[in-house]
Amino acid sequence: MSGDPLEIDVESAWALSQEGDRLVDIREPSEWLAGRPARSQSLPASRLAEDPAILAPPPGRALLLICASGVRSLAWARSLHAAGLPARSVRGGFSAWTRAGLPVADGHGLDADAMDRYDRHLRLPGIGAAGQARLLASRVLLVGAGGLGSPAAFYLAAAGVGTLTLVDDDRVERSNLQRQILHTDAGVGATKVDSARERLLALNPTLTIQAIPERLAPGNARPLFERHDLVIDGADNFATRHLVNDTALATGTPWAYGAVQRFQGQVSLFVPGAGPCYRCLFPEPPPAGAAPACAEAGVFGVLPGLIGILQATEAIKWLLGLGESLAGRLLVYDALAMRVRELRLDRDPACPACTGG
Ligand SMILES: [Zn+2]
Repeated sequence: MSGDPLEIDVESAWALSQEGDRLVDIREPSEWLAGRPARSQSLPASRLAEDPAILAPPPGRALLLICASGVRSLAWARSLHAAGLPARSVRGGFSAWTRAGLPVADGHGLDADAMDRYDRHLRLPGIGAAGQARLLASRVLLVGAGGLGSPAAFYLAAAGVGTLTLVDDDRVERSNLQRQILHTDAGVGATKVDSARERLLALNPTLTIQAIPERLAPGNARPLFERHDLVIDGADNFATRHLVNDTALATGTPWAYGAVQRFQGQVSLFVPGAGPCYRCLFPEPPPAGAAPACAEAGVFGVLPGLIGILQATEAIKWLLGLGESLAGRLLVYDALAMRVRELRLDRDPACPACTGG
């Protein structure tokens, strides 16, 4: 354990990392609970094994690998050294690091359950422990626990969005089960929000799931929006969608829009103050009867699954500040042709809803 020329002691590693060497923590996410070496970058060994090329030192500097006790990091340093990379191993690993009283970055408050449950997120650049902690602190309101709300809520719960609130006044009917996958045959007759809450907690019991057996209405919308970071609109009617839009504008809440009919669906993200609003596209709800609901027109069962998951994708990206959002763009999906079109959405300068300010 001593005298290997590829080893370096913890104090030197700390000093060199401040001078520009790249300190890489190769432990797995499940080992981060006690914290991580300050200034280190986490690249679990299991990920390095898949793609060693992600390890590159800054020009003219070295790679300093650290693991729990210094055994795995030495093996990696040897193999990288053999491949021509200036890699060294931190002797004694993270236990020597903490014994020496060197600075430790916290595990962002993630407990052992979270480290295990969200392991595949923790490995992703752009998420990691900080992003996961952010998701766990996020609150999403789902308007509707039906065809769109089902897949969206399932994936938001699985991803660890810490607080999910479901608002819906319907009860589960057998004809819902062709697409509303949150509900079960045994749940027919129960309120959708209670049925949904039970299924979501079975998937992820660590979350806060609030069930509100009401219809979104002008009287309850605003306080609900104010308590959430983002809204998923899974309503099946124009009146609710316009109410979502207006309340989102009034409270500055972004919302993921989704709609399905027969074999076609569409999805976008509306962000107040940035880009168009829903009324820029559809200024007023169409007259009653002009637009048939699912119950009359029918809907291809898998279709809301896809659209709801796209809404959840936009929600998670927005909460994490990841990637390019759908704000200002409308995706139109045709299941029969298996084609997706993208339409640019522009703000209507005459829109009375979003141009007032
Ligand atoms: Zn507008």
